[in-house]
Amino acid sequence: MSGHHDAAESGPAARVKALEELLVKKGLVDSESIDRLADTYERKVGPRNGARMVARAWTDAAYKKRLLDDATAAAAEMGFSGPEGGHLVAVENTDRVHNLIVCTLCSCYPWTVLGLPPVWYKSFAYRSRAVSDPRGVMRDFGLTLPDDIEVRVWDSSAEIRYIVLPKRPPDTEGMSESELADLVTRDAMVGVAEVGAPAKTVPRKARA
Ligand code: FE
Repeated sequence: MSGHHDAAESGPAARVKALEELLVKKGLVDSESIDRLADTYERKVGPRNGARMVARAWTDAAYKKRLLDDATAAAAEMGFSGPEGGHLVAVENTDRVHNLIVCTLCSCYPWTVLGLPPVWYKSFAYRSRAVSDPRGVMRDFGLTLPDDIEVRVWDSSAEIRYIVLPKRPPDTEGMSESELADLVTRDAMVGVAEVGAPAKTVPRKARA
């Protein structure tokens, strides 16, 4: 294999698309349910793995060190390993550095920890602007970073895929690992968002 980006595009992805078209044509499935399934894997199932790793890193300094040293092993330790091979690298956001991930050539993405790449991640607009104007891209997603924060853009490949370790938000002291994981979004682990502080919920006593 040439070790290039296209492997995932022309291989399984193309076959899945052809299969989907066939199934829809034969009336075996409707494309709406396929969209719903894809949405589930994009937003829910896949990214929950990454979110659990982030939450553990926020609460366990030793795990965080292992994650930053060797994210492939840190993911496998939690039972997350997949068929795509290659190395997973975690890049940490701090008060001085913000990381953004992209695949400029196609759509290389850390499937085992983030699931399926969202449509925008695969778009030419994102792939080109993430490099030429990363702050502009982040503004489009609603994230405006102070000028004194250094932005680092990481170009994924079949060999190396990245996950952003976002900053732990304020007002989360005392939250459990699973409560913290619920705050972590896919977009924050790609770097187009930050993890927001927990929503103010109605105190238990005040509930009906
Ligand atoms: Fe790629």
